[in-house]
Amino acid sequence: MIKVTVWNENAHEKEMPEVAKLYPKGIHGAIADFLSPNEDMLVRTATLDSPDQGLPDELLNDTDVLLWWGHARHGQVEDALVDKIVKRVNLENMGFIALHSAHASKPFQRLMGTPTGMLRWREDGDMQRLWVISPGHPIAEGLGDYFEVPQDETYGEMFYIPQPENLVFISWHPGGEVFRSGCCFVRGGRIFYFQPGHETFPVYYQKEVQQVITNAVRWAAPKAPTHKYITGFVKKGVLDKNAEWPPKP
Ligand code: ZN
Repeated sequence: MIKVTVWNENAHEKEMPEVAKLYPKGIHGAIADFLSPNEDMLVRTATLDSPDQGLPDELLNDTDVLLWWGHARHGQVEDALVDKIVKRVNLENMGFIALHSAHASKPFQRLMGTPTGMLRWREDGDMQRLWVISPGHPIAEGLGDYFEVPQDETYGEMFYIPQPENLVFISWHPGGEVFRSGCCFVRGGRIFYFQPGHETFPVYYQKEVQQVITNAVRWAAPKAPTHKYITGFVKKGVLDKNAEWPPKP
């Protein structure tokens, strides 16, 4: 059973009537609705305005794959929470899926180590065509050569990410932009960035988008038991299992 938590800042849904109408249960609710029927997944949701910003230790530590949607409230996410998320991914194999404008979220930037907020963008409801460039990859399972999102925000290169370990999608836009729209990274856990999903368009109701996110959850789920990461030193042949994270210099 993959324990999935869908986190959303849930701000546009509360502040923009057109978004509330499009996503009456919030973007997190829409994503949970299509993931929940999968028998191999236990899906829970979390929002920024909840206690502990939606992620008390009990939930975060019980999450195998964390999905993240944020845009207008990145700065409100507490650094202490980001530390815990990064630790869960880097040391405890938790999967992390950054959706759309979560490219600029604190957890994603910290995990990448580059200013991932930087990219080109325009918000005029243009279409995008996502070309599958790794057809054998589990995240592309069930897709054809490409699929199109009829209306979305356009993102374009240069996108300040480190070189992905694997690139599943490259997007083409009628304005001439291209964008690395489906990127895999591995730290301790697996990380996937997926570009579609601007809040004013019904992107998360689209079959192909749902297929990709479902595939990505299965790909990002920990494949091995959490390893007890050992920091510090070996003393007389005994590993220091109580070493602190982050390690002191
Ligand atoms: Zn957007």
